[in-house]
Amino acid sequence: MLKYFLPNEHVKSVFEITPEELKEKGIKGIITDLDNTLVAWDVKDATPEIIKWFQLMEENDIKVTIISNNKEERVKIFSEPLKTPFVYSARKPLGLAFKRAAKQMELSKDEIVVIGDQILTDVLGGNSAGFYTILVVPIVQTDGKITRINRQIERRILSWMRRKGMISWEE
Ligand SMILES: [Mg+2]
Repeated sequence: MLKYFLPNEHVKSVFEITPEELKEKGIKGIITDLDNTLVAWDVKDATPEIIKWFQLMEENDIKVTIISNNKEERVKIFSEPLKTPFVYSARKPLGLAFKRAAKQMELSKDEIVVIGDQILTDVLGGNSAGFYTILVVPIVQTDGKITRINRQIERRILSWMRRKGMISWEE
């Protein structure tokens, strides 16, 4: 059970995830979370760095889909200028949105990585739907209301895993 909470990889930010590395793994698509993964949860638009990151992926034929538990307006305003497909109210960790995104990208599970900042939604959802998961450090330490509760549970899981030696990354 606990293995579902453990990401395949852990990085500081999405900028450490490069097309070269993905291609080496045979990856052709990314399913990414939005809030605190691409920008801080209270930042409306993509930053110049994020715009560049999306362009870089596109130039390398790596498809990106944003899936977020946040509401339509938030996800739409962010995603549309990037011309990237998106799913809002995704209900992660449920698998439906992940599967729908994979289908739309016309890629198989082993050609996709799932990126996110939360263990209880992104990693758990991605793992149980059968994807390779990459956990990023949240961009800011503050969160929306629901996320705050998830974070408390998450901290317990993380400290448990650290005690068991399942985690090697630095915080
Ligand atoms: Mg998030």
